[in-house]
Amino acid sequence: MTIPVKPPAEVPRYIRLNERDNVAIIVNAFGMPAGTRFADGLTLREFVPQGHKVSLTDIAQDAPIIRYGEVIGYALDLLPAGSWVEESRVRTPEAPSLDGLDLATRRLAPLPPLEGYTFEGYRNNDGSVGTKNILAISTSVQCVAGTLEVALKRIKDELLPKYPNVDDVVAVTHAYGCGVAINAPQANIPIRTLQNLARHPNFGGEVMIVGLGCEKLQPERLLPEGKDAAKDGMKTGIMRLQDETLTSFGAMIDMIVAMAETRLAVLNQRKRETCPASDLVVGLQCGGSDAFSGVTANPALGFASDLLVRAGATVMFSEVTEVRDAIHLLTQRAVNEDVARSLIREMAWYDDYLEKGGADRSANPTPGNKKGGLANIVEKALGSVAKSGSSAISGVLSPGERVRDKGLIFAATPASDFVCGTLQLASGMNVHVFTTGRGTPYGLAAVPVIKVATRTELAQRWSDLIDVNAGTIATGEASIEDVGWEIFRLILDVASGKKKTCADKWGLHNALTLFNPAPIT
Ligand code: CA
Repeated sequence: MTIPVKPPAEVPRYIRLNERDNVAIIVNAFGMPAGTRFADGLTLREFVPQGHKVSLTDIAQDAPIIRYGEVIGYALDLLPAGSWVEESRVRTPEAPSLDGLDLATRRLAPLPPLEGYTFEGYRNNDGSVGTKNILAISTSVQCVAGTLEVALKRIKDELLPKYPNVDDVVAVTHAYGCGVAINAPQANIPIRTLQNLARHPNFGGEVMIVGLGCEKLQPERLLPEGKDAAKDGMKTGIMRLQDETLTSFGAMIDMIVAMAETRLAVLNQRKRETCPASDLVVGLQCGGSDAFSGVTANPALGFASDLLVRAGATVMFSEVTEVRDAIHLLTQRAVNEDVARSLIREMAWYDDYLEKGGADRSANPTPGNKKGGLANIVEKALGSVAKSGSSAISGVLSPGERVRDKGLIFAATPASDFVCGTLQLASGMNVHVFTTGRGTPYGLAAVPVIKVATRTELAQRWSDLIDVNAGTIATGEASIEDVGWEIFRLILDVASGKKKTCADKWGLHNALTLFNPAPIT
């Protein structure tokens, strides 16, 4: 690795998070060279890149390496003070056992209520509130995706300009529907995900489904299970390309366009109204994490999460493999033993899922995570759970279930960005907040995605992609509380349509990606 020449004026800085920690991370952009002397006298024995760990004391072979006040690994060799605690020098500990965890032992008192915060949203007949006004065209099988794309172009070019109150038209396409073991027990996950996507709050109850006709997932099954759609004020329309009255491709396109137009006319009547902040359902996620994620962006988002919970809103955090190694901290925070046991149930399900696939949680960290200073999944998880703030955990969802409760909810999902985002959408999130250290241009068409950078260098390099810079926490220019309030206020403005996220300004949207743990035939 080449060692950049540092300007002499730059003050070397490191961040230690907990008084028990025997490592700290280097703050300075591009890292610091051997011989660098910190204010407390610690001297680097070698180059340490930005975000990577330095040993603060001599750490003996096999001794614990402590960050966040928790053991993140063991030293494979002696690490004298001032060493680069690099990934290959750290042995990863076993994941905490799911037996004998403390259940709901912390008995966290509710945080003081936060009153008077509102946003301008689209209220639906089922009580949910939208933050965008979108026509979604659901599909029951991949076979129709190409046809729908042709129709969508016509709808956007010819119809959308006539209905200015409608923000967008979105096709909910996917690889599911046929060639799948539709009755396998775990097929319930992709199926309920599609059902819940169709009734997403931003789609206004105007459900439209394009099917083929012969597929295993018949279009009717996308209607919410056990729900009287009409009673919820949902208007449903289904068409099948194999319908014998459709005698040409042109006729299929005409029918899709006509169905879309009747729905656009209804959606165009939707108007924003003042709604309490308690109507927000905010999904939290991280992607492309680095060692700053758990120091800057995630704690600031955790502070914003506490503000949202205090305002009566729903906040979902997810990503099973990124909370698994911190599960002993989360079960203590459950509001009651049932919720704690539900957390353990979701962890056990995922342990089993990974084992059957011949993998374990060590498969999670990416080359980018490691380059950013994260030694292993334990260190990544401890930084990841900082997003959840300090509230009690009041509920747990299995993948793709619609959220029922207010407060802080653990919504079990894979950590993969677009899979997690799709499942949180199905759960009903109306704003998404995404923290990133390495950087990703991630966005979703269905909801606004606010991106928070962990480092100033990234926020500056990608100033037209990053909405909030939490790197100012590392440099001491802002506090966790300052950035937390900035995120909270931006959530209200974005939910109201008053401000656009960078991703929405560019029309930068990733595809929805279903989680299908069931067999394909
Ligand atoms: Ca993720």
